[in-house]
Amino acid sequence: MTDPRAEFESDLYRTAIGQLDQVATRLNLDPDIHERLRFPRRALVVSIPVRMDNGKTEVFIGYRVHHNTALGPTKGGLRYAPDVNLGEVTAPAMLMSWKCALMGLPYGGAKGGVRCVPRDLSRTELEHLTRRYTAEIMLVIGPDLDIPAPDLGTDETTMAWMMDTYSMTQGRTVPGVVTGKPLIIGGSAGRREATGRGIVYALYQAARFLGQELRGRTVVVQGFGNVGGVAARLLWREGAIIAGVADFKGGVWNPNGIDVGQLERHVAEAGSVVGFPGADAVSNVDILERPCDILLPAAIGSQIRGDNAERIKANVVAEGANGPTTPEADVILRERGVTVIPDVLANAGGVVVSYFEWVQGLQYYFWRESEITSRLQEVMTRAFNRVWALAQKEGTDLRTAALMEGIRRVSEGYKIRGLYP
Ligand code: NAD
Repeated sequence: MTDPRAEFESDLYRTAIGQLDQVATRLNLDPDIHERLRFPRRALVVSIPVRMDNGKTEVFIGYRVHHNTALGPTKGGLRYAPDVNLGEVTAPAMLMSWKCALMGLPYGGAKGGVRCVPRDLSRTELEHLTRRYTAEIMLVIGPDLDIPAPDLGTDETTMAWMMDTYSMTQGRTVPGVVTGKPLIIGGSAGRREATGRGIVYALYQAARFLGQELRGRTVVVQGFGNVGGVAARLLWREGAIIAGVADFKGGVWNPNGIDVGQLERHVAEAGSVVGFPGADAVSNVDILERPCDILLPAAIGSQIRGDNAERIKANVVAEGANGPTTPEADVILRERGVTVIPDVLANAGGVVVSYFEWVQGLQYYFWRESEITSRLQEVMTRAFNRVWALAQKEGTDLRTAALMEGIRRVSEGYKIRGLYP
């Protein structure tokens, strides 16, 4: 018989299983629970026929994977991208389980995706694709079952279409079925800024434990979007020196500090940080190796690798993006004494405020932005402190400690609930 895991075969899945196995050994995890955690609870594959603008019908393939439901309904993003397949969706569903558990949220992890090139589709085609995908996965989503959110290639409009499609079939408005919705239909204040803001709270704690202050620290940010752009602005406001910023076109560098307000205005006009006056041009890869105290990779995965980790000058790396550091680079950074705040912790502010949005939607009672911000700070600070203390106790790095905490909580849920039937 073939290994049942072959079903989910992909690079990402192999890496996720590798991390789970390593942590399971450290935790001395019950082998039966360990085995269960290696598989998603359920995975749905759907075909999505869409009438295209040219009158022809095209069929797309979509997925929705629930990793586990030990601690509550599942939660996770929906991705529209050409490389989506079962394994590439299953791995992030597993990581979402650890992230939600680590942050103390009552969720298991999920992920969804549709294999497509969103920029090649018209708005009408995207709407039809989204509505039919929602109808096909209707059986496995719901406010107390599984709650999707935006991810790569999807946005708040996608969530509005999903919420509307689901609500139409129920005959009533169900805001709690998705998060990341526009404000007017039940989105949360502060959701857009949540991930960037969460990173700053994590960095604030890291600086405190390292006996430093954020004020006066030199920062390099790769990615100037929702995550990197917000984090750069907030760190700049805290008095940090933003020495380098890069986006997909290139980067700018000024060791004396970049005025982030002016940079935002430049980006609004030019569409990129490139060409910003008063700073030198640098490539978006070289910028990672520039001298700084804090490096914030907030663009795409696998940016810090075995071939450049030796040359990273920062003493703190905060992972805004998912998986920006490869496992080989992780080892090098650890040996060099660099503090890496792992993605499951650093960028968890997004899912924390998604949780707040879901709670507000269930109660039909909406909080002020200041309430959201202070609750976010509380959750981020508590999680960071727990991870820091565990890393000290176990003599390990923050990534291992964060995964240990997340995996331990999920396995405790499994243990206490037992195995059905
Ligand atoms: P975004 O699309 O708003 O911004 C991405 C930024 O990265 C843009 O400035 C883009 O120009 C830049 N970029 C793309 N390729 C690049 C490259 N090769 N070099 C340098 N810059 C490059 O996306 P986002 O929402 O800010 O997400 C960024 C990352 O954070 C992604 O990996 C995402 O999965 C992760 N993340 C996002 C959230 C969230 O709430 N938005 C939450 C958790 C994790």
